Amino acid sequence: MTTPNTTNNSSVGTSPEEKPFPHLLAPLDLGFTQLANRTLMGSMHTGLEEEKGGFAKLAAFYEERAKGGVGLIVTGGVSPNKRGRVAPFGSELSHFWHVNKHKQVTEAVHKYPTKICLQLLHTGRYAYHPFSVAPSKIKSPINPFTPRAMSVRQINGTIKDFAHASYLAAKAGYDGVEIMGSEGYLINQFACIRTNQRSDDWGGNIENRMRLAIETIKAVRAKVGDKFIIIFRLSMLDLVEGGNSWDEVVTMAKAVEKAGATLINTGIGWHEARVPTIVTSVPRAAFTWVTERMKKEVSIPLVTTNRINTPEIAEKVLASGQADMVSMARPFLADADFVNKAAENKSDEINTCIGCNQACLDHVFQQKRASCLVNPRACYETELNFNKLDTASKRKKLAVIGAGPAGLAFSVYATERGHKVELFDKISEIGGQFNVAKQIPGKEEFYETIRYFNKQLALHNVPVHLNNEQSAESLLAAGFDEVVLATGIKPRKLDIEGIDHPKVLSYLQVLREKVSVGKKVAIIGAGGIGFDVATFLAESHVETGESLTTNLEAWLKNWGVDKTYQVPGALNTDKLFEQVATDRQITLLQRKTTKVGKGLGKTSGWVHRASLQKHGVKMLPGVSYKSITDDGLLIEVDGKEQLLAVDNIIVCAGQESNRDLQQALEKGGLNVHLIGGANVAAELDAKHAIRQAAELAMII
Ligand code: FAD
Ligand code: NAP
Ligand code: SF4
Repeated sequence: MTTPNTTNNSSVGTSPEEKPFPHLLAPLDLGFTQLANRTLMGSMHTGLEEEKGGFAKLAAFYEERAKGGVGLIVTGGVSPNKRGRVAPFGSELSHFWHVNKHKQVTEAVHKYPTKICLQLLHTGRYAYHPFSVAPSKIKSPINPFTPRAMSVRQINGTIKDFAHASYLAAKAGYDGVEIMGSEGYLINQFACIRTNQRSDDWGGNIENRMRLAIETIKAVRAKVGDKFIIIFRLSMLDLVEGGNSWDEVVTMAKAVEKAGATLINTGIGWHEARVPTIVTSVPRAAFTWVTERMKKEVSIPLVTTNRINTPEIAEKVLASGQADMVSMARPFLADADFVNKAAENKSDEINTCIGCNQACLDHVFQQKRASCLVNPRACYETELNFNKLDTASKRKKLAVIGAGPAGLAFSVYATERGHKVELFDKISEIGGQFNVAKQIPGKEEFYETIRYFNKQLALHNVPVHLNNEQSAESLLAAGFDEVVLATGIKPRKLDIEGIDHPKVLSYLQVLREKVSVGKKVAIIGAGGIGFDVATFLAESHVETGESLTTNLEAWLKNWGVDKTYQVPGALNTDKLFEQVATDRQITLLQRKTTKVGKGLGKTSGWVHRASLQKHGVKMLPGVSYKSITDDGLLIEVDGKEQLLAVDNIIVCAGQESNRDLQQALEKGGLNVHLIGGANVAAELDAKHAIRQAAELAMII
């Protein structure tokens, strides 16, 4: 399996003699104002917007990104009125008393040469409350609430609300607004026949359907004057049935320009689209071609977006003329100093967003504060700080056993505080289970976290001892003050008749030792690893070392994205649901009777399920395991026995903590801390492992 390493081997503008990333770091003149560079931090709801006292934390969050060199920040979406709010207590800017709290944010950002725009978002039928409105009374498949069709009076009122909110945004010190016209929100709902079946001046032909967008831009421009940035986020690819054709998108873009927008940002896919648009298995820069196509049609600057996560990729996109600016959102959660590190030609020091969604979008969808798996400080800037030890505190000599995500993060953070850390691992490389995860097709990005920590360990001068299995005796003899056990997990052993049969393999034998696997396979356990093993067996093309993620054209075809834009919405539904030819029969089993894959990530689980279904993987819940023989795996489902005549049975049945050293160390008088899988193995993921490491480093 090849792992992309664009960070280190790029040929784009990173040689020491020339200025790094000349296109990405070039200023952008908007006439009445200048942006310091071509980076736009895309809109992200953080959850701090609604927290009590959250605006002070939000100000700290944005200030760190401004200090880190971002050219233009766009805030999370704020509704211009009550009905447009995301949820009952969602943020809204419609009264003068809303202004002051926003000033905390704009004043913090304006300590640096960064501009900041407020995103105005009316959710329409995506509002998660019973007062939602839309062009027509059509319920969204992803929301239980049916919207009311808007009256003409309500439409005109909404346009005025956008203008008033923009006026208040200017009063709060924002440099502009972004009007959200994509991802299936209200303005996008008006623009497409999928959701707009009106027969008045606001429905029918594209001129009528885009009227809300255009009148809103005109009203905002009239209210705020010429020297205010108006970004319009235009849905260039709806990726749903009943989406707009390319001609309609172009007609709208031209009208948006004429109505007075300063910049057009690219929107990709409605939230209800069944095409993945940002998860880690989407190839990098997978959609920049659509912005490039639009560049021939309009003359105002265009921003491109989605799965751009390194300065090298961003530079390549800009240098090839695909866009004028690059929007990155999650990469700025992962590393606030992204731009400054790029400018200093230190892109290998950037903590790269791996596109997992686990701590950002998944949290937001569960009404929790967003953060980042690889950077637990994101949105916790005022709470999680690795301050240097004061002179009265002891600088401890710490041994960290295990160089998986937990041990790596702890080593770096504890060294930042001033402790003297030594890191040990029994194998020949750092990364722990991430070395296994990165081999799964669609998880190639996990390599970047290992690359990041390798660099950070070197920068922090942490002695790393590989191929060095530590025992209690060796540790007790070495004179450490305390020991941090980050020794991870051991795969769970099962008690099924015949479990020692040669047909039975563990996931580590398959993924790490590359033991050959037959054509008919049963997988015991349908957690994250069961799904990953099924993906590995179904999707990896071992002979070419390629996965769909590393082959953009194949990926687009697989998900039915029509790059030629022959069909409206650029979605070829036949291809979307088409089965992929495969010579392997895989059955994924679990004991629970719930839907298989229910426990996977909120925003990524559906992609894993859909992808395996396309590859013909069968998913079977409510299974009890009876026995394993030469004939295969005998199971019982709904009281009936059935034999799965398989060549191999792969066990992915969870894990148990590896705490082999704990007792002897404590007996020997050493203070022992357990983090990551060594602490709790059940439902342990890297997000918990890294956060726990950070929390321990803060107090040790
Ligand atoms: P580990 O990563 O297990 O690291 C423990 C380290 O300790 C190992 O390197 C081991 O060699 C070392 N060690 C053990 N004993 C000793 C000793 N005596 N002396 C020296 N060294 C020792 N998590 C997610 O959040 N998202 C995902 O998408 C995801 N996908 C995954 C896919 C796969 C295929 C796998 C296998 C795991 C995945 N995980 C994922 C889980 C994630 O990798 C783990 O939760 C995480 O690695 C746990 O980190 P850790 O540091 O606690 O332990
Ligand atoms: P897991 O998510 O806990 O899943 C374990 C699976 O094994 C479950 O399907 C469980 O289902 C089954 N199982 C448990 N005990 C069993 C037993 N005694 N006999 C038979 N089956 C049993 O663990 P995992 O898949 O090993 O993943 C480990 C961690 O890595 C997880 O916490 C996960 O968060 C993380 N991870 C995340 C991702 C991701 O994409 N986010 C990917 C991979 C891994 P039943 O009990 O119903 O049979
Ligand atoms: Fe990126 Fe994952 Fe962090 Fe979200 S949680 S910003 S997807 S690395």
